[in-house]
Order: sequence, then C-alpha cells, then structure tokens
Amino acid sequence: MPDDASQPVITRFAPSPTGALHVGGARTALYNWAFAKGRGGPGSRFLLRIEDTDRARSSDDSTRAILRDLRWLGLDWDEGPVCLDDWRSYDASFDPDDPANTLDPRGVGPFYQSKRLDLYNEQFQKLLDAGLAYEDEAGGGALRFKMPDRDITVIDEVLGEVTVPAGQTEDFVIRKGESGGLMPTYHFAVVVDDALMGVTHVIRGQEHLSNAPKHVALYDALGFDKPTYAHIPLIFNPDGSKMSKRVKAKVARKAAIDAGLNDNGLPSAGIPNDELRAFLSKDNDDLTVARAIARQLRLALPEIDVADFRESGYLPTALLNYLALLGWNPGDDIETFDLAFLRDKFDLDRAGKSNAKFDREKLFRFNADAIAALDPAVFRDQLHEHFAARHPRFLDLMNDNAFAAFAEAYRPRARTLDEPAQLGGFFVADDGDIAYDNLDKNARKALTKNDGVGVTHLATFRDVLDQQCDPWTGAKAHELLQAYCDERGVGMGVVAQPIRVAVSGSTVTPGIDQTLDILGRDRTLARIDNLLAAHT
Ligand code: GLU
Repeated sequence: MPDDASQPVITRFAPSPTGALHVGGARTALYNWAFAKGRGGPGSRFLLRIEDTDRARSSDDSTRAILRDLRWLGLDWDEGPVCLDDWRSYDASFDPDDPANTLDPRGVGPFYQSKRLDLYNEQFQKLLDAGLAYEDEAGGGALRFKMPDRDITVIDEVLGEVTVPAGQTEDFVIRKGESGGLMPTYHFAVVVDDALMGVTHVIRGQEHLSNAPKHVALYDALGFDKPTYAHIPLIFNPDGSKMSKRVKAKVARKAAIDAGLNDNGLPSAGIPNDELRAFLSKDNDDLTVARAIARQLRLALPEIDVADFRESGYLPTALLNYLALLGWNPGDDIETFDLAFLRDKFDLDRAGKSNAKFDREKLFRFNADAIAALDPAVFRDQLHEHFAARHPRFLDLMNDNAFAAFAEAYRPRARTLDEPAQLGGFFVADDGDIAYDNLDKNARKALTKNDGVGVTHLATFRDVLDQQCDPWTGAKAHELLQAYCDERGVGMGVVAQPIRVAVSGSTVTPGIDQTLDILGRDRTLARIDNLLAAHT
C-alpha cells in the first residue's frame, strides 16, 4: 500500500517480445494492473513497455501476441502500445511500429526500448562523466557499470530487506554490441525506463530478485528515486520443475520415442529426419517439431502460455481467477472472483513468499464452474467462436439451429469449450466412418439382447422416421418414437439405444431429440441404414 493512498501509483508490465505470453507473465501483469487501478490515488496508471533490446530474439509477432493475450484476459493499460477494444484486432494487420498505435498521454514514451536509444545515451554519458562507468575490455563501445564499494539493500514489500554485502556484485555490462548496433542491457534499460516513466512500484517475479541490487545501485548512481519493489513467488509444476516452454518439448519427445517415431522424419509436417533426430536426442527444444509430433500422435501438449489455454477452451475469467491465486489470496476463504474484485482487493501485504504450484486440476475445476455459470446464449456464442477457430468442420456441417442444439446439449457437461468437440466428434464424422464392428459392451448389448429385437424395431422405426418426421425436428422424432413404443408396449430404450448406436457408434449421446436435431434427417437415416446393413 502506498504510504498515502491519495498518491498516484504507477506500475508497469514489461515483457520481452521473444515468445508468447507465459502464464507467469500474465499473473505479473494482473497484479500490476490491479495494484495501480485499485490502490492508487488520482493519476495512477498501469503501463505496458516492450523490452525489445534483444534484437535477434524479438519480433513484432510476439508483441502482437502478447497484446492480444493481455486483452483477451481483459486487462487494459493507460500508456504503451495502443489498447484496442477487441483482442482479435491484434492480428497481422496491426503494426506495432506505427506511431499512431501508441498511447502516450504524459509523453513518457516511446514504449519500445529499441526506440529509446537516445534516452539511454544521455544516461550513459552521465555515468561516464561521473566516472561511474568505463569501457569494457570487450571493446566496440561496450560499457560496464562500476559497482559501488558498499552494502546494497533492496527494500522489498513482500520479502522485506535483502542486503548484498559490498564486493559481492561484480561490475556489470550496461551497454553491449548487438547485430543492430550498441544496445543497453536489460539492467540499464529497465532502470532508466522505470525512472523516466515515473514507475513507483515494480511488481515482478522472484527470478529478478538477484537483479535488484544492481538496479538499486544504478538508480543511486543516476540520481533517480527508487521505486518500491515487490518480488512475487515463482510458479512451478506440481513436481517442482520449472513451468517452462520446455515442458512441451519434453512431453512430445517422450511420446515420440514411446511411439517409435524416429526413422522417417515427419514428412506430413515437412520435418526431415535429421531435424526430428536432433530434437529427439535433446539437441534442441524446437516447438515446431514438438507440435508436429503432437499432431501426428494426436497428443495434447501441456498448456503453458495464455494462448495455449485459450486454444484448449479455457475461459479468460477462469484463467485469470486461478492465476491471481498463485501467490496471493483475498482471505476469508474466497476463491472465486473477477477482475473488478481483484482490483478492489489486491494488495501486497497478502502476497505470498513461497513458490506457487500450478495445479491443473484446480484450474480445470475453475473452468468447469465458470462455464456452468454462463448464460446459455453466451455459452453458445463462445462455443461458436471457439469452434470457428479450432473446429470449423462443425460449423460447416451444422446450420444455426443444429449448432444451437449442439451447444445446448453439451452445455451441462462441457468443462472446457473444447470438450464438446471430443464428446460430440461423431456428429461430424463421415457417415461411413462410424464403426459398428468394434462396439463396447453396452452398445453390443443394445443391439443383441432379446434376440436382437432392438435392431428389428430399428428397421421398422427407420421407415416411420423417413415417412412421418416431416419437417424434421428432434422433438417430432421423439414424439414418433414415444408413440411407436407405446403402441407396441416396449420401453423407449429398446429402440432409442439402437438409434444411439447407429448415429454415434456408442450409447453415449445427448438426448435422442437433441441428437437427431443436431444430426439432421439425411445423416440420421444414412447411419441407421449403415448399421442395419452391418447387422443383418
Ligand atoms: N523484460 C523483463 C522480463 O520479461 C522485465 C523484468 C522486469 O520486470 O524488470 O522478464
């Protein structure tokens, strides 16, 4: 909490655009957002700065993806690259280099470090003039900062005071040669930018704690006021390993080796054998190869980045709720909340000190609960959008009514927006691909019990459907089925189960009326005919 709650709080999220937005980065952004919006007085701001001094590894694509994923989570910022209303607008047509795409009300930009070289040069000169920096042996204009010969204390809101004794930190590089010319190092740029942008609180992951003494020494040497630091716990996998992108490579590698995928490359993905072998022998963790293996083996790679969770059908509300709890809690056993609650309640005095464990099961439950709480029409729209991006075949084969019935059928059981695609995959199979020769026990029983009376009824009822279900609706089909069964004094299941087996190859489908609504006349009848042909 700032000493005086009427003071402006200025926080920032400062990603390096060298890849997608990791969940750890998203959590850092979330806390900085909430702290500025909720704890600061008038004039508080949350800014977004792109730390792209590593020219070889930075890309506009990564910048766009980071902006998109922050907006998808519902975070907005006051200064930085323009904050668009719709996260989908950060597509290839968005040009981060266009000056029009900048939010800079106080004139403290630019917000890309690669565009701030003049500002850094002024500060380099200050240090050189004061004798606090010197040319590095490496030459070529590289500079080193002269660490002062005194203890350095970092005052951290979460961890308390951390003191590094004099002489423990070596002089470090503050300017280095890069392919594009001389660039400040991270340590230098982060200090100059936070100072010139007026950042009052630096909330970031504990991996940066060991950098903080260097930053403190630089602030003092440059004569800037230091911000308040808050280093938050790291996020680990439940087994204690780091939750890094390498996990994807590890999972793909193991699956490929188990499946004996090691001799022919992956021709369908354009991956030659030497590349595959290099990956399998741990020469690299190339994500392109990992993804190609996953596709080939129909394997789901563990989600690590925000975009992975979106693609797996998580809701942004569930993800941000879960992430906010990794290193902070609001007390009172409250676990379910939204951004507005986080903004109102987030404070550093409830931030944790120890490592956080990423519990996928718990996130999954959060997501299931968030989906269950959605208004039916909202669920349908979100499912539609997810399917348009990930499973367009469903939309090709289903008209609006069929898709609405599909959404309604799976709404009670969907725990992610992706699950209906797996559970209801039979709806979009080719009719000829429903396998009747390898049925599970329940499905076999539905066809064979009582001398196969179910199949006999199915053959008769098929013609009832064909002749009387017009116009075709699931409700009408259900009514006909009811009348058919009542007339003959047989239980509905006797006929309904074989219908399920015919249309899906199993007895697990939504209700008959919903199922036939979704599948439509032609495909229902074709599948019944296929089953009858296979069983007579
Ligand atoms: N660009 C740094 C990172 O992505 C920011 C570190 C900081 O917040 O100081 O880790």
